[in-house]
Amino acid sequence: MSGEKPVKLLDEKGIRTDGRKPNELRPLKIQVGLLKNADGSAYIELGRNKIIVAVYGPREAHPRHVVIPDRAIVRCRYHMAPFSVDERKSPGFSRREIELSKVIREALEPAIFIEEFPRTAIDIFIEVLEADGGTRTASITAASVALADAGIPLKDLVAATAIGKINGQLVIDLNGLEDQYGEGDMPIAMMPSLGQITLLQADGRFSGEEFEEGLKMAINAIKKIYRIQKEALKKRYLEISKEVLESE
Ligand code: ADP
Repeated sequence: MSGEKPVKLLDEKGIRTDGRKPNELRPLKIQVGLLKNADGSAYIELGRNKIIVAVYGPREAHPRHVVIPDRAIVRCRYHMAPFSVDERKSPGFSRREIELSKVIREALEPAIFIEEFPRTAIDIFIEVLEADGGTRTASITAASVALADAGIPLKDLVAATAIGKINGQLVIDLNGLEDQYGEGDMPIAMMPSLGQITLLQADGRFSGEEFEEGLKMAINAIKKIYRIQKEALKKRYLEISKEVLESE
């Protein structure tokens, strides 16, 4: 976020550069179970973001020194493909990717019944194919669906979005341009039916009132995302039951 250049991110009618109203999410699509080799998988498109998540486990934890006797360890790897942004990104792991891997893992772990799987590992691999702002929150949304697809018992799904401030106005689900030139960005993840927040970050300045108003906007958006997550999982279960019935 530079916030240095004054860029017009809202028109006279309060419409954003991509045609959205302040409280409007980008078009969201989630597809479940598309990778045969993973235990669970999900693909998410949120506006121009395209992200694929593969989950393995719970499986025997390797190397042995990472084993935790009374619970599973959760590992997460967030990676952006070199072609995911307009300036070619170096193919290795940047500090940002290492940090986001940790942030995403911490947002997901509270939802997993890790105590039920001692001495095992749950691995989450996130590959960002195209990035346009909000990849950490879209990754969390997709990864929790991939965990469910892997049959890992969850307290709830985790759904996430970001609240931002552009030209003094609170908006939901910042795109790349808004993230770059806006005045603030507040990613939020929660377990919607438990009402528990698992991630709350803030970049920029928000007043107390803005924070409260932003949280309300985020919760509304998260409820919409949650419905789409559940629909995607139901669609997958229907496909599986159809496949099973046809093979009998
Ligand atoms: P998030 O994707 O969760 O919003 P950031 O705020 O760090 O995370 O990044 C915002 C956006 O900036 C990304 O979604 C992506 O579009 C862009 N971006 C991130 N890293 C790079 C990079 N190395 N080169 C070009 N653009 C990048």
